[in-house]
Amino acid sequence: MTYVVTDNCIRCKYMDCVEVCPVDCFYEGDNMLVIHPDECIDCGVCEPECPAEAISPDTEPNLDKWLKVNAEYAEKWPNITIKRDPPADHKEFDGEEGKFEKYFSPEPGSGD
Ligand code: SF4
Ligand code: SF4
Repeated sequence: MTYVVTDNCIRCKYMDCVEVCPVDCFYEGDNMLVIHPDECIDCGVCEPECPAEAISPDTEPNLDKWLKVNAEYAEKWPNITIKRDPPADHKEFDGEEGKFEKYFSPEPGSGD
């Protein structure tokens, strides 16, 4: 089991999650974060910390796509453990549907 970051993180990227993870298993893309499934210890403390409600345990249904996205990009993007400010326009995108199809970027973020 692991926790996964899902659609509503894209372009919101609040980063509250990275500060609470005891094993520092968040990785930063250009406009979202992902969780490394082999490093996550399933403690669950990040889930309620996410203002966008974008983190879910993989025991919830219909998360196959997000499991793949988290596993693939956790290997490609840099580790992030320090919270920075979210994008200036993050509120405009909170709750929007279909953000992956519209905005997902495979480019890496800057990391710590
Ligand atoms: S707190 Fe939520 S929205 Fe912010 S970076 Fe973490 S998963 Fe994404
Ligand atoms: S469930 Fe725990 S170990 Fe996994 S990403 Fe969240 S805070 Fe980190």
